[in-house]
Amino acid sequence: MSEVLNVEEIFGENVFTLGTMRERLPKKVFQEVTRVMDQGGELSLEAADVVAKAMKDWAVEKGATHYTHWFQPLTGITAEKHDSFVSHPDKDGKMLMEFSGKELIKGEPDASSFPSGGLRATFEARGYTAWDITSPAFIKEAATGPILCIPTAFCSYTGEALDKKTPLLRSMEAVSEQALRIVRLFGNTEATKVTASVGPEQEYFLVDQKKALQREDIIFAGRTLFGAPAPKGQELEDHYFGVIRERIGGYMKDLNKELWKLGVTAKTQHNEVAPAQHELAPIYETANIAVDHNQIVMETMKRVAGQHGMRCLLHEKPFAGVNGSGKHNNWSITTDNGVNLLDPGDTPNENIQFLLVLACIMKAVDTHADLLRQSASDVGNDHRLGANEAPPAIISMFLGEQLEDVVKQLVETGTATSCKEGGILATGVSTLPDFKKDATDRNRTSPFAFTGNKFEFRMVGSEDSIASPNTTLNAIVAEAFCEAADELEKAEDFDAAVHNLIKRYMTEHQRIIFNGNGYSDEWVVEAERRGLPNIKSMVEAVETLTTEKSIKLFEKFGIFTKAELESREEVLYETYAKTINIEALTMIDMASKQIVPAVISYTKSLADTINAVKAAGADASVQVQQLKAISEKLAQMQSALEALKKADAEGSAMSEGKEQAFFYKDVVKEAMAALREPADELEMMVDKKVWPFPTYADLIFEV
Ligand code: ADP
Ligand code: MG
Repeated sequence: MSEVLNVEEIFGENVFTLGTMRERLPKKVFQEVTRVMDQGGELSLEAADVVAKAMKDWAVEKGATHYTHWFQPLTGITAEKHDSFVSHPDKDGKMLMEFSGKELIKGEPDASSFPSGGLRATFEARGYTAWDITSPAFIKEAATGPILCIPTAFCSYTGEALDKKTPLLRSMEAVSEQALRIVRLFGNTEATKVTASVGPEQEYFLVDQKKALQREDIIFAGRTLFGAPAPKGQELEDHYFGVIRERIGGYMKDLNKELWKLGVTAKTQHNEVAPAQHELAPIYETANIAVDHNQIVMETMKRVAGQHGMRCLLHEKPFAGVNGSGKHNNWSITTDNGVNLLDPGDTPNENIQFLLVLACIMKAVDTHADLLRQSASDVGNDHRLGANEAPPAIISMFLGEQLEDVVKQLVETGTATSCKEGGILATGVSTLPDFKKDATDRNRTSPFAFTGNKFEFRMVGSEDSIASPNTTLNAIVAEAFCEAADELEKAEDFDAAVHNLIKRYMTEHQRIIFNGNGYSDEWVVEAERRGLPNIKSMVEAVETLTTEKSIKLFEKFGIFTKAELESREEVLYETYAKTINIEALTMIDMASKQIVPAVISYTKSLADTINAVKAAGADASVQVQQLKAISEKLAQMQSALEALKKADAEGSAMSEGKEQAFFYKDVVKEAMAALREPADELEMMVDKKVWPFPTYADLIFEV
């Protein structure tokens, strides 16, 4: 029997939860904390001191010796600098562990070595981290010993955001404020805030660590840069939801345990479409906490994999020829008196508030399709979006039959008098129950799909932070709410005005609705006819950040200044060029030091064999033919290698920025593809024993 896990007991044991605070803080301080959490504002220094002490005592009881301000710079991952609680000893040499309110609230990491896109020069290195009181502190158990992690936002000396959390928090306030104006119009006077909630489904691959460590591409690029397809891929559709293998099951069990201890509600686990691919979904929660927790999920996935002798690959496309990984970002907005603004109820045609919200979201997504697409782009995701497996690079909205029909009625006649019902699903088996069907089937090819009471944004990459997509969603929806509220608050006849506005928004933006197959070529043509943007790559998406439309949006709601947007553009171009450069150098290394030498020795052994066969007076024609074919490919590979070296050198010599990023996309990436092709063919031509690293078959079928 395996160990019995008491989930209720371990859940949140490493989190400084509200419950722990209630137990450990004086009532007055606890009240101050919850007030700041709910309504914003600042904690007094006295209260902060009390909280810090309680937090430190709790952490020390759990064995922590250090704390860190845990933040999310523009690298897309998290950063931490550990400080111990050790203080100056007294004159007897005795030392007391200390942690002050000031240390809790504010940190001062040197900002100069984080990407800032020119927002701060190295001589102005100061950066500040500020405690995000709404996201709970937690203890990370690592080889360093337990570390108290305090989720923080990271800003420059002049207050500019240098991270992913600050704009997200700003966007959450914006959408809350504007959504409140909408619910007020419908007589909701109780709600005091509206919260964006997010449930991210995380896909990942697991491969054997020992094998992974034999491949430089996995080590440096997190994905394979060479590799002929295995004889079997995902064509039998036998992996998706298949029985979970023992080794993977053991991993999932430990992963869940670690996540539960950290207060992450790991809920769903299953095998995904590609061999060696899996998924974990937590229960949705407040957007900023969901973003923090997703970082914890990604980090924990990697750590636990190491403990199981495996390596977790979060890259969007670890293997060519089988599905890549994404992160479905489920998003909804709910008032603090419990109304999910995306819940249509049983008769959406009569739910005017819902229809207004829907009309606003249609407008937001259509107006800012480019920004939404940008928010889901990263270097790895370029291999997925539009590549016939993930959503296309074109943003459209899927509403499902029921809502599409309601929208159609509204657009055509101005009123929606009926609504399609789900009906009963008859199983045809007397012992099975008949179900009440959902009114809407799913559409797996849509990038932005309505799924009952939330939107599922399916474009996000598996390795990416979900901060940007949610910041963008909150911002664009805040703007649409604001414009609607501006108009409706002034209306003399509210009923007529809201009716007209819904009809107008839906009519003007109906081109964004698409319920068909998003993977088809016809859709690409149709989308172009509709005038929807089709932004094919990450670098092409970057400049959407600084269009007049974008600056106006983000500045209006105080989410980004123009300077912050420009700095992010710069960081994105740099990140792109640097990432592709690393990939190119890795390919050059593997080709020059491993593949080419291996093939050369193989040709030598072939030549020796030919001589021996001929000396014996036997027929060596097959060997000769092989030697010729392999040598020819080898020559092709060598010249592709030289071409890549040249291209990469040219790219590296360019100054950083847009032009360089485009050079890497258009020239270096092409040269990489040209090198991979003959190398993968060679892999299929030579003796498996001489191939210098594990193959696709070794990696994804023998975990
Ligand atoms: P799927 O069938 O789409 O794969 P999953 O169960 O894997 O569904 O994931 C759905 C995700 O959506 C979960 O994280 C779930 O908690 C989240 N979710 C459910 N309802 C909401 C909501 N109202 N707002 C945001 N996220 C939600
Ligand atoms: Mg899922």
